[in-house]
Amino acid sequence: MNYCVIGFPISHSLSPALHNRAFRKLKVRARYTAVEVAPSDLGLFMRDFSSKYSGANVTIPHKEKILDFLDELSPEVRAIGACNTIVNRGGKLFGYNTDVLGFMDALKSEGVRNLKGKNAIVLGAGGAARAVVYALKKMGAHITILNRTLEHAQKLAKNFGQNFGGLEDFNKLKCDILVNTTSVGMWHKENKKYMSEAPVSICHCERHCFGFGRPRPRNDMIIMDIIYRPRMTKLLRDAKKAGCKIITGDKMFMNQAKRSFELFTICS
Ligand code: NAP
Repeated sequence: MNYCVIGFPISHSLSPALHNRAFRKLKVRARYTAVEVAPSDLGLFMRDFSSKYSGANVTIPHKEKILDFLDELSPEVRAIGACNTIVNRGGKLFGYNTDVLGFMDALKSEGVRNLKGKNAIVLGAGGAARAVVYALKKMGAHITILNRTLEHAQKLAKNFGQNFGGLEDFNKLKCDILVNTTSVGMWHKENKKYMSEAPVSICHCERHCFGFGRPRPRNDMIIMDIIYRPRMTKLLRDAKKAGCKIITGDKMFMNQAKRSFELFTICS
């Protein structure tokens, strides 16, 4: 059986190492590879997908576009409009989204179970942001989506009945939990500089600038980056220096991968 992860770029992905290790451990005769698929080649790649692969993970930037090539969508994929796991059942392609539970499991493992009445800021409005906004809304948060391209943030905010703005609005907003879902800060084979960047800058001054400059204990603010390579992004390093509670992206990555693996093996 062959499985893969498709994305563009894809060299940052740790999915092949993780899934191949799990296959070996459970003595499942299967192979998992990383396939770089440029956005313009997605249709071509999907044309003979079902004759080659038993399943796949889908990452940046295909999570939304992939829906056009699937036969059945899970209720979550339908609600979110993004898919990160495909299972091939007898030539029929089923789409799932394990990012939602992966994200919620990561928060739970850090003791965050309920965000009723809390202000959340989500940076980014791509495929992963859709899952994160859906999960935060389920947990009761009021969400503002900030993105480089305003139309993308507006569209996502409208889908979920939330607020939106540009990345430059970050320091004007109240924030109990910030989640970075942009790819800024991610390890990139061709662009090493990308890794030393952060989507927003976090102030380290003594005036406790978050939340309209109101003094507040820094350690009750949570900053999560869903990027998992590197584990400590610039955003998280800055947040740690500022005294915030940080959550690394590897927690979400491990949890979503575990749920994808179950779909590939147990439920197939
Ligand atoms: P995507 O659909 O391509 O979305 C990328 C987002 O990043 C968009 O909002 C885009 O803004 C923004 N962005 C890209 N370059 C930017 C720049 N130079 N400055 C500002 N914003 C920029 O990708 P995705 O699938 O959502 O994945 C995003 C990241 O999350 C990736 O690093 C991925 O590895 C990570 N991820 C981690 C997990 C995990 O389990 N930990 C799960 C899913 C994803 P525009 O709208 O303006 O283009």
